[in-house]
Amino acid sequence: MKKQIDFSKYSSIKIGPILDVFVIEEKNYPKKNYLLGHCNNVLIGNRPPPLMILGKTFDYIKVENNLLCIGAATAGGRVLSFCKKHDIAHFELLPKLPGSLGGMIKMNAGLKEYEIFNHLHSIITEDGEILKKEIPHGYRWTDFKGVVFEARFEIEKGFNQKHLEMFKKMRDNQPLDPSAGSCFKNPKGDSAGRLIQEVGLKGFQIGRMAFSKQHANFLVNLGEGSFDEAIELILLAQKKVYEKFGVWLENELIVVDERFKGENSPLLKI
Ligand SMILES: Cc1cc2nc3c(=O)[nH]c(=O)nc-3n(C[C@H](O)[C@H](O)[C@H](O)COP(=O)(O)OP(=O)(O)OC[C@H]3O[C@@H](n4cnc5c(N)ncnc54)[C@H](O)[C@@H]3O)c2cc1C
Repeated sequence: MKKQIDFSKYSSIKIGPILDVFVIEEKNYPKKNYLLGHCNNVLIGNRPPPLMILGKTFDYIKVENNLLCIGAATAGGRVLSFCKKHDIAHFELLPKLPGSLGGMIKMNAGLKEYEIFNHLHSIITEDGEILKKEIPHGYRWTDFKGVVFEARFEIEKGFNQKHLEMFKKMRDNQPLDPSAGSCFKNPKGDSAGRLIQEVGLKGFQIGRMAFSKQHANFLVNLGEGSFDEAIELILLAQKKVYEKFGVWLENELIVVDERFKGENSPLLKI
């Protein structure tokens, strides 16, 4: 089945064309298509590969053998409500992490040392169940093949209201303009926001896109911003930071466009 999606409305950064997207309802899918979750960490260009998303079949939460089994299309907000209601710990970080469980697993999303992998038990892909210890992962990266259909977590009792408040506070400085979250990963021992600010790009605007005045590492859409403007800003920040500090800022936001695919992507080197 296909579904038409207007990515200028669907994506959190409010950029992208209107496209027909393949909807996965069973555990088989066109291997050449690029999988999207809820589009909170992606920037979709005018020349994307064929796309696919998970359908409603993968939007569920169930408890089996003391494991919380969550369909990968399930929104974080739904998981949070479930855990609050059933007094389950370790999902208190979710209010400030927009997205689907599948997207969070792929990105190992988190805040500081609190990451979604911390309490993960296993994932289900077309290869069956893969235990966390078998999945190489680290700060905002993971290494596994294919689509996550389900994520499983060990259940520990005790939803922590104090943690919930702490996570909300940690993101108080988050800009409200549309964005895809952090634009760059923090280089080891430093912060991408600081480096962007040091090269004078905090608040800097090209067309209708800007590095936020509030938080320099958030690339924000001030209304009608375009893919090209976003890319121009990303390349400018990478170049300026490299020239001043010798550090190549690595994108956290994922650019989905044929021109930026693979090893020859201009985002990967100067
Ligand atoms: C305002 C804002 C604040 C944010 N703050 C944070 C933060 O503090 N920390 C943080 O870590 N992130 C943050 N993000 C980014 C975002 O919340 C996370 O990256 C989230 O995990 C994205 O989920 P998604 O479903 O939207 O994935 P998408 O953006 O749609 O996709 C992200 C990646 O995941 C892959 N993917 C999606 N679903 C699956 C699946 N089922 N199986 C395999 N791969 C899949 C996609 O191919 C893509 O590579 C923020 C985003 C916004 C807009």
